[in-house]
Amino acid sequence: MRSPAALPSVRGRAHLAAMYEEPIRRGLKLRCARCGEGKLFRAYLKFNDECPACGQDFTVADTADGPAFFVGFLVMILFAPFYFILPMLPLPLPLMIGSWVLLLSMMIGLALFLLPPFKAVLFNLQVRNRAEEARWESTGKHGSPPKHWKH
Ligand SMILES: [Zn+2]
Repeated sequence: MRSPAALPSVRGRAHLAAMYEEPIRRGLKLRCARCGEGKLFRAYLKFNDECPACGQDFTVADTADGPAFFVGFLVMILFAPFYFILPMLPLPLPLMIGSWVLLLSMMIGLALFLLPPFKAVLFNLQVRNRAEEARWESTGKHGSPPKHWKH
């Protein structure tokens, strides 16, 4: 099992492609960031433990609630106008209820449809760019005080 550290170092335009475009493109196809072949998911939103094609460890990153946040906001922005327009329409009650059911179904459907690619893209970007939790390391000293400092 090879780590993402084995990826080649690149510069400039090729650097951007390798760091962002490729992981995004592969994520949209729900494929591994490293080889572009292996499937990321073994079930809906459940990652494989490692890439079936290249063996990339899929436990090195965790998207947590990131995908849900982005998908939630996108869907909300897209559908918000209908929540203002629909109540103002002079529709008979059965048609109004039907419209709300349709609107809610479309929202839920779109969110469920968008979650896997969003999760895959975020995950691939984390894997490719070796994202991890922030760490703070003390240098072991506090430096010297400024010159005007009075003891
Ligand atoms: Zn792979």
